[in-house]
Amino acid sequence: MVLAQLGGSIARALQQMSNATIIDEKVLSECLNEISRALLQSDVQFKLVRDMQANIKRIVNLDDLAAGHNKRRIIQQGKTSVVMFVGLQGSGKTTTCTKYAYYHQKKGWKPALVCADTFRAGAFDQLKQNATKTKIPYYGSYMESDPVKIAVEGVETFKKENRDLIIVDTSGRHKQEAALFEEMRQVSEATKPDLIIFVMDSSIGQAAFDQAQAFKQSVAVGAVIITKMDGHAKGGGALSAVAATKSPVIFIGTGEHMEEFEVFDVKPFVSRLLG
Ligand code: GDP
Repeated sequence: MVLAQLGGSIARALQQMSNATIIDEKVLSECLNEISRALLQSDVQFKLVRDMQANIKRIVNLDDLAAGHNKRRIIQQGKTSVVMFVGLQGSGKTTTCTKYAYYHQKKGWKPALVCADTFRAGAFDQLKQNATKTKIPYYGSYMESDPVKIAVEGVETFKKENRDLIIVDTSGRHKQEAALFEEMRQVSEATKPDLIIFVMDSSIGQAAFDQAQAFKQSVAVGAVIITKMDGHAKGGGALSAVAATKSPVIFIGTGEHMEEFEVFDVKPFVSRLLG
């Protein structure tokens, strides 16, 4: 089997699993069997394939999955949802918040943006600029330094205005720091988001697992967005982020502009990893 075909087979197996609403023993076994078949046809040693199957089954904790992946919190148009974005500074969080809002606005949603990033000077201006360009209402403050207060006020304001998708942009730091995670925990507790999205730069490579896990340990991350996929990085770190957060990748960022944002599709992603 040539590499491209192998990629296709693995992608198909993963896609089937990601389409399943409930991931149980049967769905996992089917996916692993499918991948094993493809690997064997590509002359990967039988023992290696068998060990891989056994290892994955040991690592994957289906009870954990039942609590996270299976209960994928669904946001619904016409009903108010709060979506909180988390990620390190420079990951592309602010840009991605607006892209996400703009994407949904084009589909008929009524999004709104709240800037609860009081750490980075200029964060509010950046969000304001993006929001104005895309004609999306925004909330923020130049004076207030308490991110929790701004987040709560913003969410309350937009709930009153019946916006159905309230997006909360939060602070980042250059490194994983205790203060950042405590702030995320507080903003999450105060705004009770329906979904928390972890934003990750595709080029961070091996650091992805630890970074994603650190965020997951402080807040209930439910989805991942990988940015800067237009660069050279293959984005293999996405697999680590998925493993660490037990959450699906939902979108990828492919450029600096508002339209450069795509629904995640497993097949081209796997082809790129193998290519
Ligand atoms: P934040 O600190 O996490 O809020 O990051 P920003 O949203 O300010 O983004 C940091 C930089 O990355 C900015 O220059 C963005 O234009 C850029 N950026 C964000 N997403 C993408 C992407 O998908 N592709 C590229 N090429 N640049 C991006």
